[in-house]
Amino acid sequence: MQYHGERLLLKSKIVIGADGVESRVGRWAGIDTTVSMHDMESAAQVTAANIDVEQDTCYFYFGEKYAPGGYLWVFPKGNRTANVGLAVAADMSKQKHALKFLDEFMAEKFPHASVLTKLAGGVPCGETLEKITMPGLMLVGDAAHQVNPVSGGGIISGMIAGKMAGRIAADIVRNNDMSLTGQYEKEWQDSLGARHHRYYNIKKVIYKFKDGELNSIAAEMSKLPENQQTLGALFKQAVVKHPTLIFDVMKLFFT
Ligand SMILES: Cc1cc2nc3c(=O)[nH]c(=O)nc-3n(C[C@H](O)[C@H](O)[C@H](O)COP(=O)(O)OP(=O)(O)OC[C@H]3O[C@@H](n4cnc5c(N)ncnc54)[C@H](O)[C@@H]3O)c2cc1C
Repeated sequence: MQYHGERLLLKSKIVIGADGVESRVGRWAGIDTTVSMHDMESAAQVTAANIDVEQDTCYFYFGEKYAPGGYLWVFPKGNRTANVGLAVAADMSKQKHALKFLDEFMAEKFPHASVLTKLAGGVPCGETLEKITMPGLMLVGDAAHQVNPVSGGGIISGMIAGKMAGRIAADIVRNNDMSLTGQYEKEWQDSLGARHHRYYNIKKVIYKFKDGELNSIAAEMSKLPENQQTLGALFKQAVVKHPTLIFDVMKLFFT
């Protein structure tokens, strides 16, 4: 480790690798942490002022125009500020990158906005890595590809995995038993890992939907009373369009 220019040698029984997308810690231990272009999403977000939107509503835009292979969000933050961001599938964004999509959206919808901060990065939206442990090592968060493949959200799942890994690391140290890293891998796979696998199967189909299909799903949803406009109902509409989705949707929402 290098700290303020000084090289230090640190020894520990267990290392938790939480160094983000395409983790180098994982690679040093022999785990291939690269993300395929197909599974990588390119994301960009601004926090901006002078944004006039309903403060109690989150806005989502889907489709070719705004975010091919991903989606665009507007999250109000109070005082006429909002986070406006989007993620696009990296292999679909060769012609136009995420920041350009975002700039065009801002110019179209919020021409008078003042951008306060801007950030961009890659989000690994595939399945969890096949191997997230090695003797003495556990990978968590983006390093282990623990992002929800449909939503692209990795904060909560990364925190859940971090908590699991922390608890198991304490057990490893307490019991001096390195084989317990396998327990982390199993706990993750049995919980969110399995859910992410199903989300990934669903994503492979829904991200191929054309704008017309997305519009017709939205139209069907808007016919439902507000309290029935749930994620489960949304995916049910998707099943009507693509019956092959039925098994994964059933397992996700109805078991
Ligand atoms: C534009 C954008 C918007 C997003 N919005 C959301 C959202 O709204 N909700 C959500 O849930 N997720 C969102 N995500 C995804 C989310 O940010 C990540 O999934 C999450 O931050 C992963 O957390 P992490 O701790 O695993 O990795 P990171 O947040 O990437 O943290 C890894 C850390 O390790 C540090 N590091 C790496 N290598 C070294 C080293 N050698 N030495 C020391 N430090 C090192 C890095 O500097 C970094 O601080 C977004 C991503 C992007 C790009």
